[in-house]
Amino acid sequence: MPPAPSSPASRGPSVWILGDQLLVQHPALSLDRPVILVESLQRLRLRRYHARKLVLILAAMRHYADALRERGYTVELRQAASFYAGVREHLAETGNTHLMTMAAAEYDTRQMQHRLADMLTADLGYPITVEVLPNTQFLVAMFPPKRPPKLMEPFYRHMRQQTGLLMTSAGEPEGGKWNYDADNRKPFAGRLVPPLPSFAPDALTRTAMQDVGQHCPNAIGDPLDFDLPVTHAQAQAALDDFITQRLPNFGQFEDAMSHAEPILYHSVLAMLVNIGLLEPLHMATAATHAYDAGTAPLNSVEGFVRQVIGWREYIYYRYWELMPELREVNAWEHTRALPEFFWTGATRMRCMQHTVQRTLATGYTHHIERLMLLCNFAMLAELEPQQVNDWFMACFVDAYEWVMLPNVLGMGLNADGGKTATKPYLASANYINKMSDYCKGCGYNHKARIGDAACPFNTLYWHFLLKHETRLRANPRFGPAVLGVSRIAADERAAIVAQAHTLLANLDQL
Ligand SMILES: Cc1cc2nc3c(=O)[nH]c(=O)nc-3n(C[C@H](O)[C@H](O)[C@H](O)COP(=O)(O)OP(=O)(O)OC[C@H]3O[C@@H](n4cnc5c(N)ncnc54)[C@H](O)[C@@H]3O)c2cc1C
Ligand code: SF4
Repeated sequence: MPPAPSSPASRGPSVWILGDQLLVQHPALSLDRPVILVESLQRLRLRRYHARKLVLILAAMRHYADALRERGYTVELRQAASFYAGVREHLAETGNTHLMTMAAAEYDTRQMQHRLADMLTADLGYPITVEVLPNTQFLVAMFPPKRPPKLMEPFYRHMRQQTGLLMTSAGEPEGGKWNYDADNRKPFAGRLVPPLPSFAPDALTRTAMQDVGQHCPNAIGDPLDFDLPVTHAQAQAALDDFITQRLPNFGQFEDAMSHAEPILYHSVLAMLVNIGLLEPLHMATAATHAYDAGTAPLNSVEGFVRQVIGWREYIYYRYWELMPELREVNAWEHTRALPEFFWTGATRMRCMQHTVQRTLATGYTHHIERLMLLCNFAMLAELEPQQVNDWFMACFVDAYEWVMLPNVLGMGLNADGGKTATKPYLASANYINKMSDYCKGCGYNHKARIGDAACPFNTLYWHFLLKHETRLRANPRFGPAVLGVSRIAADERAAIVAQAHTLLANLDQL
């Protein structure tokens, strides 16, 4: 250990940048402050993750360190047992007694940042000061709502007004409407979808691929199968590609699902904006420029802007409103274990088979597959919310706790009692058949709700409605769907319940 500096706070500051904060304009950056980036082995192994996510973070951090050095910064990229160990070793070696960092997006790390000064002071034996700067990765910090919003829609309108995106000079929403969702529910028409751009790994990225293979042998997927963007320039190229190639059709096919096309017209940018390789205002503005230039229609551009400055910001806001209790919520008291096919894709349900297999291989499926297939099934099968969340955290490249908990436990499973979304998102095969081409090639019959060939989504959907009829009827947004229950004859009700109980006891046989 170096000798204690002669006076407290006499050295530094150093700047600690987290692996999901790789911003070009990080608020603590200054040429006279050394930067420390920590590759924490503990964090890499905290839970099972998708290999592509681990490679993305390591490769992006290493490229970020090089890019900062090229801009004149002094940067240390340190492999350490934990974040704490890495920061402590850095301070001990440099003798710096002041650390600056930006508030983490996730709860535990932010809590740790606020305890860090006390921990380091006790550990190093001389005073250390830690300055936690406000997080600049979310627009809501810049434009906080006047009152805590209960719904996404008023929150989104507030964000539109504050950013001025898609607003006329008279303060009206562009095109006269705030929302073009009604135009955005077309099934996929089997068109040619432009392929995603592929970014060949360079030597630095190849090392990250090997490191993940070596340090995280339990990771999901293959670390050597990697072609994602890892630099700001590549992320910008991915954004440009989306804006020119897929944004024009993003809106109309936003909710469509297809066994033939894994991506359709979605952006696949969440994994980049979530680690700072892109920024939300820049993404949304790029889309509005396409509208201004006449290269993308309003329903697509508004749909994308809604996702980025509406849903994404609202989810982050909700996370911080509901933490830490959000982790434990289970409003429907579901306790069933995740069936094995979530880890293999080995199920006869064609929609689930394709979606799970694709997720395991690539770490990505789009929003409606996450919500209306995976979570819908989990809800109907009464799976324990925390196990479902763990599965999502493990399988997706864009997974971080701040975004997963409100989306999975809140929106997907309604386990927070409706604090994130106003209604449970439940659907039978009727919806899946309308929005996808899965049912046509499936061994189950999407029209039947009882009988050997009946689609499990149907049996379990009607069972759920029967079981929770009173509670669901009380929800103004879901209530009308429950009316169908009263048209089911008593003997069919009994048959649905009996068959559902058999399915629920044998989920691995589906
Ligand atoms: C059950 C469930 C789990 C999810 N888990 C995650 C997750 O771990 N990480 C994650 O980033 N998103 C998550 N989402 C939100 C959304 O599904 C993904 O952001 C989106 O599918 C990512 O693909 P994309 O980049 O092609 O998005 P696009 O469809 O192209 O949307 C554009 C952007 O909007 C943002 N966005 C859209 N919807 C949401 C939302 N509900 N919450 C936050 N951001 C949103 C994303 O940044 C996304 O890149 C989840 C949604 C559900 C229902
Ligand atoms: S019939 Fe049912 S299980 Fe088969 S693809 Fe359709 S919704 Fe999925």
